[in-house]
Amino acid sequence: MFYEFKPEETVRAAHGTTLRCKTWEAEAALRMLENNLDPAVSLVYDELIVYGGAGRAARNWKEYQVIVKTLKELEPDETMLVQSGKAVGVLKTWAYAPRVLIANSNLVPAWSTQEYFDELDRLGLMMYGQMTAGSWIYIATQGILQGTYETFAAMADQHFGGSLRGTITLTAGLGGMSGAQPLAVTMNDGVCLVIEPIEERVQQKVREGYVDEQARDLAHALVLCEQAKAAGKGWSVGLTGNAATVLPQLLELGFKPEIVTDQTSAHDLMDYIPEGDIDEVLALRAANPEAFKKRALASIVKHVEAILEMQRRGTIAVDYGNNLRGQAEKGGLKVRDSAGQFLYPGFVPGYIRPLFCEGKGPFRWAALSGDPQDILRIDRALLETFPENKMLARWIAKAQAKVPFIGLPARVCWLGYGEREQLGLVINDLVAQGEVSAPIVIGRDHLDCGSVASPNRETEGMKDGSDAVADWPLLNALANCASGADWVSLHNGGGVGIGNSTHSGMVIVATGTPEKAERLKRVLTTDPGMGIFRHADAGYELAQDVARERGAKIPRLE
Ligand code: NAD
Repeated sequence: MFYEFKPEETVRAAHGTTLRCKTWEAEAALRMLENNLDPAVSLVYDELIVYGGAGRAARNWKEYQVIVKTLKELEPDETMLVQSGKAVGVLKTWAYAPRVLIANSNLVPAWSTQEYFDELDRLGLMMYGQMTAGSWIYIATQGILQGTYETFAAMADQHFGGSLRGTITLTAGLGGMSGAQPLAVTMNDGVCLVIEPIEERVQQKVREGYVDEQARDLAHALVLCEQAKAAGKGWSVGLTGNAATVLPQLLELGFKPEIVTDQTSAHDLMDYIPEGDIDEVLALRAANPEAFKKRALASIVKHVEAILEMQRRGTIAVDYGNNLRGQAEKGGLKVRDSAGQFLYPGFVPGYIRPLFCEGKGPFRWAALSGDPQDILRIDRALLETFPENKMLARWIAKAQAKVPFIGLPARVCWLGYGEREQLGLVINDLVAQGEVSAPIVIGRDHLDCGSVASPNRETEGMKDGSDAVADWPLLNALANCASGADWVSLHNGGGVGIGNSTHSGMVIVATGTPEKAERLKRVLTTDPGMGIFRHADAGYELAQDVARERGAKIPRLE
C-alpha cells in the first residue's frame, strides 16, 4: 500500500523563489508537506512516517501524488479538503479563506479507540496524523526542543536553584521528538542518560549533535555520567538498551538520578518496544501484532514500576506527554492516588501551565527559500523586537550555537498573546522589504495553549475539572478559519493516542503584502487568544489578568 506510486526522486522541499503552484500559500503547503517527508526530517520515509510512532504526512504515496497535483492546480480562491491524508475535494471559497483544510484520525467519540482506528487504518480508510505530521508543520526535533528546554529550566528553578548543573536526568527514546531531551538537558547544564533500543537512532542523534556521546554499555554509561556530574559539565550519553530492562538494573545498582522521565512512543502499543532481542521483537511486531502489544504492555508496567520506585527513593519523576502512565494503568498498575491524581505529574500541570495562561506555546516559522540566513535575519529582528525578554535572548543564543537546521531552516520560539502578532507583522515587513529572500511560513505545534484537549497531558488536572472538554480545540480551528489562516487542521489522538486527545493546528504564510498583514494580525491574536479564553474560563487568575491587561475580550470577565 505504501510503496506503490513512490516518486522516483526522493522527496525534499523545493527551495528558492520559483513557484510550482498558483499562490505562495499553496506552494508553502506543498513545500511543508515535502519537508515533513524529507528523509533527513522523517522517521520512516518509505512509509511516509514523520515522527511520533506512526504519525504520517499522507495516507500513502498514491494519495501523496494526488495531494501534490491538487495543490499545483489549486486556484487562488479554492480550498483543498484533506481527510486523513487523502485529498477528497476542492471547493470554490474566497481568496482570504484557507487554501487547505485537514481532518485527520477523527472518530465519533464512542468509536474512538485504538483498536477500531487500527482496523480502519488497515482497510486504508484512515491515517494517524499525530500533531504536526499530518498537518504539515513539523520542523524536526527542534520543534519540541525549546518546550523541553523550558520544562527542564522550570524543573531547575523549582527543585535545583535555577540550574541542572551537577544533576543527572534519566530518560528514554531517541526518535523525532524524544531526541530533543538530551540537548534540552545539556542546554540547562545538566547530565542526561538516554536509553534507546535502536542503535542506529543513538548514532543518528550523536551525528546531529543532540547526544554528545554513545556509551559502550551500562557500566560505561554510568562512568561517563558520574564524571560529567562531578565536573559540573553539561553532557549527554546515549545507551543502546530497553528502558524496561535498564531502569530496574539501575535500581539494583543503587543508581539515583535527580530526575526521571520518558518519551518513548508509549501512546501506541505498536510503537513501544518490549524487552527482548530487538530483531526478534521487531519480527514479532510484523508477524503477530497482538502478541507484540501484550509484551509491550507488560514492559510498560515494568518501566513505570521502576519510575515509581525511583520516585520513592527521592528522584523527581515527571511524565513527558506520551501516555506512559495511562498505558501502565491499562496494564493493571496502580498509577493514581486515592484522589484520582497520577502518582507523578505530567509536565504541563507540573511546569508549563503558567506559560499557557499567558498564551505562550511552541510558535514557529520556516524559511521557504531554504536559506538559513533568512532565519538568522529573523532571529535578529526578534531580539530587537523584544529586547527586555531575557528568556528569549538565552534561547536564541543557545539555539544558534547548538541546534542544527534539518530540512527547511526553521526556528521554534515560545511567544505569548500579543507577542505572536507583533512578530508576525515584523516578519511580513521583512518579506516585503526583501530582507528575507522568500515568504515565511508561520505556525505552531498542536501542543499549544488553546488548541488541545488532552486529559493525560495538556489539560491534565485543570482547575475546574474540565480536562476532557473538547469544545476548545474545535472552536480554535473554527476561529482560525474565520480569521484568515492559510491551512487549518483538526486531529484526534496526537501525543497520547487515539481517543485520548482532540487538537487543532493552524498555519499562515507571511507573503509581505498589506492584505497578509491584516490577516496575520487577526490570526496571530485569535490563536493564542484561545489559550487565554480557555485558561481564564477554567479559573486561572493569571490568564484572567493577562486578558484584562492585554485586552482579550471575555464577556463575563468584563
Ligand atoms: P518516535 O516514534 O519518533 O520515537 C520514540 C523512540 O522511543 C523510538 O526511537 C523508539 O525506538 C524508542 N522506544 C520505544 N520503546 C522503547 C523502550 N522500551 N525503551 C527505550 N526506547 C524506546 O516518537 P517521538 O516523536 O520521539 O515521540 C515520542 C512520544 O512522545 C510519543 O508518544 C509522542 O506522542 C510523545 N510526544 C510528546 C510531546 C511532548 O511535548 N511531550 C510532543 C510530541 C510527542
